[in-house]
Order: sequence, then structure tokens, then C-alpha cells
Amino acid sequence: MPKVHLRSHTLEPSYDVVIIGGGGHGLATAYYLAKEFGVRRVVVLERAYIGSGGTGRNTTVLRANYKTPETIRFYKKSFDLYATLAQDLDYNMLRSERGLLWLAHSEPQLRNQRERALQNQHFGVNTVFLGAEQVHEVCPQLDMTAGSKRPILGAAYHPPGAIIRHDAVAWGYAAAAERLGVQIHQGVEVTGLRIEGARCLGVETNRGFIGAGAVLSAVGGYVTQIAEMARIRLPIVTHPLQAFVTEAYKPVLDRIVASADLHIYISQSARGELLVGAEIDPYSSYATRSTFPFLASCASRAIDLFPFMARLRILRQWTGVCDMTPDYSPLMGLTAVDRFCISSGWGTWGFKAIPASGILMAELLASGKVPPLMAPFALDRFRWDRAVPERASAGTH
Ligand SMILES: Cc1cc2nc3c(=O)[nH]c(=O)nc-3n(C[C@H](O)[C@H](O)[C@H](O)COP(=O)(O)OP(=O)(O)OC[C@H]3O[C@@H](n4cnc5c(N)ncnc54)[C@H](O)[C@@H]3O)c2cc1C
Repeated sequence: MPKVHLRSHTLEPSYDVVIIGGGGHGLATAYYLAKEFGVRRVVVLERAYIGSGGTGRNTTVLRANYKTPETIRFYKKSFDLYATLAQDLDYNMLRSERGLLWLAHSEPQLRNQRERALQNQHFGVNTVFLGAEQVHEVCPQLDMTAGSKRPILGAAYHPPGAIIRHDAVAWGYAAAAERLGVQIHQGVEVTGLRIEGARCLGVETNRGFIGAGAVLSAVGGYVTQIAEMARIRLPIVTHPLQAFVTEAYKPVLDRIVASADLHIYISQSARGELLVGAEIDPYSSYATRSTFPFLASCASRAIDLFPFMARLRILRQWTGVCDMTPDYSPLMGLTAVDRFCISSGWGTWGFKAIPASGILMAELLASGKVPPLMAPFALDRFRWDRAVPERASAGTH
């Protein structure tokens, strides 16, 4: 395994590309800029430490079972890139295919999951619809009555659904990008953008001005703050999202189970912890404080599905912030300010998008042309009434 500690560099007065934010999206873009497009005078500026945002706080689910043609194509590309990422970056990521069950406990959700399976198959994504008996066969640990509250009627089953180590994704991209000459600076905060005549010339930071041929904002839940510096208003609202893990337990759950009716999803990590995620907090905030009401309600729903979990103790609970768009799809590409691009709107679904977004964003920054797979997610889709509705695909609302 290659060396993973980040080297220390002197900040230069200018770079070809300045990337704000050392999360998965910023680091992946830097890596692909250098590897695929030969752009190596690239710097990633991270105000805290890499992976300290949503990238290091998410619940690590990888899947391609979306509902609209635009998003299925996009996430399929990302899913395929993830499949070989450990080899590409020469970094162990503990990727583990589990099979993902998306449960239906109501007639509307049954219809939704049937549609999902058909739409996925049309675009070459492996998802099948299962009746209740087949769901029980695939995951016998499930209480099919959900605590006698909402019986499970069926599910969309996505056999390739997987989990992967999230911090390894951040560190794998960072280490590989560094080997190609990219600079990564932690503890450098962007405090302003220098814009003249609708063109971005660089960034103001706590370490002074840095000139840039192009600037990319990849700051997750903080994107409206950076956009504000360019006087751009985005249709994004930031919400907290919480999750928790139990103490380690023997290997007992080899599937990922999600339920849109119960607003919950559960998997078991390589360490044996049961990992539970659920809906976003209903209010807008940048707070990353965890709450007891979330924990109590989420734990009770988890126990309805898996009664054995009632015996487990909770080990850890945490919170991240999510940049939510009105249609639950990403918001990426060019802006009204020349040479200022955004990679945002990753909400509660952006971890699985990192490789595709990174390579497409690198192509945009290197060529100035919007790649076709990225085009549907442009900011002006809201002006032209071309939203890409994917709310039904987020397990978190
Ligand atoms: C609890 C939880 C569970 C989730 N589960 C999943 C899941 O299972 N699957 C999935 O696909 N997605 C999931 N997500 C969503 C996913 O984590 C995010 O969409 C994704 O990580 C966003 O990555 P990013 O690189 O855009 O942002 P981040 O990883 O948040 O990185 C942004 C970085 O920018 C830095 N920054 C901010 N402002 C500045 C500044 N002014 N100057 C310099 N640096 C700055 C921050 O410090 C941060 O490190 C989940 C999120 C949470 C919170």
C-alpha cells in the first residue's frame, strides 16, 4: 500500500484550478483532473481536515437503483467506477456487495417499487420486484409484520447494492491525487471570491489571495455560503441528517434494508456494528448536534424491522449537514460567473455519486464543455421547469 500521509507544501500564488472543499467530490475532481486530463497545477483547500464533512459521516450505501433516466445513467456510471476504485487508487476500501432491499408496506410504495424495478431493468440496472414471501427468503431476519404495525408487502431488490469504507474513499483519492502532483492544504478556509466583470479570478483565504484559472466549489452543505460570495442564489436548503451505530455484534445481517414507509435504512458494517440512518431533520440548520428524539424514534423503527436489535446498546450517534435541492437531484456545472463552477446538491445521496461527479466535473473544468451526463443537473433546469424528480429514491425524507 502506498504512503497515505499528506505532504506539506507551500501555498503558491496561483493554480490552474482551485477546488474549495476536501470532501469526496473535491478530492475526486482533483484526482481525475490530473489523471485523465493532465491538469496538475491543482490545489484542494480544506478548512478543517479532509473527509471531515459529509464524506466522513455518511452511511456508505452504494447503489444505482434510481427512478429517472437521467439519474439512473449518472449513478450507474458512478456505481461502475466504484467497482474498480480500490484497484484504480491502490487503496483498500472494504467494498462489500450485500444486496439492497427497498421495502414496501403500503399500496403506493408497492407501485413505486414495481416501477423502480422495471425502470432499472430498462436501463441495464439489476433490480427485481419481490413479493412478501421472496422478501422473507432474501432476508429471513426481518419481522415481516414490522412490529405488527405495517406488514411488509413486497420490495424492490437490487442485488449489487454495496457498502464501502467512507474515509478510505476520501484518503484513497487524496493519496492518488498527491502522487500525480495535486496539492492538498488542510486548515485553509476560503473567505471570499475575487470576481471582476462577471469572471472569477481566484479565492480569498485565511492565508491570503490565491489566483485561479478556474474555481470549483465542492463544499457540501455549505454551498450557499460560497455561492453567496459570488452573489448567486441557489435553490438549496441545508438540513442536518443523523445516524447511529450499535455496539459490534456477530455477523447477522448480510443485506442492506431500506423502508421508505418507515423512513429508515439498516446495514451491518465490517466491524459488526449495526448502522442505522433515517430521515433528515425537519428544520434547516448547520448544527451538527445529535438529538435524543431522533435516536429514540429511529431505534424504535429499527427494532420493528429487526427485533433482535432491542438487545443491542448504542455505541455512537452523529450528524452531518446536507445541501437539499427541491427535486432531490444534484446541482452541478457552470454558473453565471465565468470560471466559477459548483458541485453541489448532493443532499443525502451524494456519497455514491463521488466517482461520476469527480470525472465529469474534471472534464468540464479541463474542456469548458458540459458533459452530456452532467447536463440535466444544471442550475437553469428550475427556470425551464425541467426538474429531475428523485424524492422517491432518497431513503431519507
Ligand atoms: C448521516 C449521513 C448519512 C449519509 N448517507 C449517505 C449514503 O448512505 N449514501 C450516499 O450516497 N450519501 C449519503 N450521505 C450524503 C453524503 O455524505 C454527501 O452528499 C457527500 O458526502 C457530500 O460530499 P462533498 O464532497 O460534496 O461534501 P463534504 O464531504 O461535506 O465536504 C465538503 C468539505 O468542504 C469544507 N468546507 C466548507 N466550507 C469551506 C470553506 N469556506 N473553505 C474551505 N473548505 C470548506 C468542509 O470542511 C468539508 O470538509 C449521507 C450524509 C449524512 C450526513
